[in-house]
Amino acid sequence: MQVHSKVVLFDIDYTLFNTDVFRQLEKHELYEEVEELLKELSTIATIGVFSEGEENRQLLKLKNTGIIDFFLTKNVHIVAFKEQELERVLNTYKGKTLFFVDDKLPILKKAKEVFPDIFTIWVKRGKYAAVQQPIEGFTPDKIVEDLSQILQIVKSYKE
Ligand SMILES: [Mg+2]
Repeated sequence: MQVHSKVVLFDIDYTLFNTDVFRQLEKHELYEEVEELLKELSTIATIGVFSEGEENRQLLKLKNTGIIDFFLTKNVHIVAFKEQELERVLNTYKGKTLFFVDDKLPILKKAKEVFPDIFTIWVKRGKYAAVQQPIEGFTPDKIVEDLSQILQIVKSYKE
């Protein structure tokens, strides 16, 4: 397997996974751009998941949408409380160029504090983003409304 210097960590709910559809219909569904993005991105970067929740429940979201095989097990981080595990998880990628994609602004802010070189991408969609107020003193490196721009962002980033 190719070793990439760039690593992109994705949140699951409201980032890869359409959590609204799941809540309403109990149906496992990705946002439409996700599969193509992961396919292309995985040729230029290591991709992983950093998600909060119950492990089996979160893994099922990756399995039932057919994307689990994009990720090596060691790059799948599912934890009960993201903030508590942030430092430990991010530290496993020391020396890499790290991109962190999440719909929750406070967690991106925290990631930047722990790991100042991290490139934070806020996916502004879903119920949390909709009510999020700006956080004083923190602006994510990039704000997107879906994941389609991420390939270009990662590709063009100069290390
Ligand atoms: Mg989320």
